[in-house]
Amino acid sequence: VYILGIESSCDDTSAAVLNIRKPLSNVIATQKIHEEYGGVVPELASRAHQKNIVPVVHQALEKAGIQASDLSAIAYTKGPGLMGSLLVGASFAKSLAMALNIPLLEVNHMQAHILAHFIEDEAQKRPPFPFLGITISGGHTQIVKVNAAFDMEVIGETLDDAVGEAFDKCGKMMQLDYPAGPIIDRLAAKGNPKAFTFSKPKVKDLNFSFSGLKTAVLYFLQREKQKNPNFVSENIEDICASLQYTIVDILMTKIKKAIQQTGITHVAIGGGVSANSAIRNALLEAEKQGTLIAYIPKFEYCTDNAAMIAIVGYYKYIEQDFKNTKLAQARFKI
Ligand code: ATP
Ligand code: FE
Repeated sequence: VYILGIESSCDDTSAAVLNIRKPLSNVIATQKIHEEYGGVVPELASRAHQKNIVPVVHQALEKAGIQASDLSAIAYTKGPGLMGSLLVGASFAKSLAMALNIPLLEVNHMQAHILAHFIEDEAQKRPPFPFLGITISGGHTQIVKVNAAFDMEVIGETLDDAVGEAFDKCGKMMQLDYPAGPIIDRLAAKGNPKAFTFSKPKVKDLNFSFSGLKTAVLYFLQREKQKNPNFVSENIEDICASLQYTIVDILMTKIKKAIQQTGITHVAIGGGVSANSAIRNALLEAEKQGTLIAYIPKFEYCTDNAAMIAIVGYYKYIEQDFKNTKLAQARFKI
């Protein structure tokens, strides 16, 4: 079984081929253009997807060593994401599935961030059901009770900004490039996490809030810059380490609360922020203390990629959850 996955929800154009659960290729074209603007510009993103989609899919097939005619099905990201960007992937996937007369599979991007753990790769292990899926990304911050591959329940989420957004927006205040998350991670490694303290929001239940933290950082920087105009550049490593420490603390507090509430100790993170070294270390530390069992995806499967779309596609394929013609269903063989 060869599944082609196509991802175009935000600013990365990606195509991947899986043979059952094993990735044969996972090509990602990152759009550099948005760096100049300090954030994703939707109109530019969809134009870049249009330019990238054909070469990226070609490359994914070539790397996998197969022809389009060998494909069993095509999976694409239906949403959530930027409308114009999603449309490019969707139209391409639909046309190709129609031309090849093979099943078309619709994939939810957030479900894919969670099921990325099921991609067969030596660098990661598969969580058993039920587990807690923690989706921490540019657009979402959720705690999900995952009972089965397609039985997921959101038990907590952000009431305002996503955690990745908090990283990126705070980074922008410090004149860091977009996306600032990985830059903050790198700078934090050389800083003191206890150098500065930022107040943590008080949010009920398993929900999160990051907009207050963003404002706290903004006022803190303004105040300090009045005293010393070079404050940011002189203390950038300590500021990043302290900010990251606060964010990870907020996440870990809620993760532990979710474990207590549900009795589920298997914790699998997903989404771009799961690439963060501090959250990874905090989970491994909690695992050492016996609080939980951590499932941490390989870096490549943290941020947006098509292999995670293809793995969800694979599970839909074996369930015969097709979104195109009856003809494709009739042709279905396993
Ligand atoms: P969503 O998945 O919610 O639709 P998205 O697809 O835009 O949003 P992802 O690609 O999953 O988001 O993640 C991108 C986010 O991850 C950005 O905010 C980026 O700053 C953040 N990120 C990536 N690497 C790191 C890191 N090492 N530390 C912190 N944040 C990181
Ligand atoms: Fe994403």
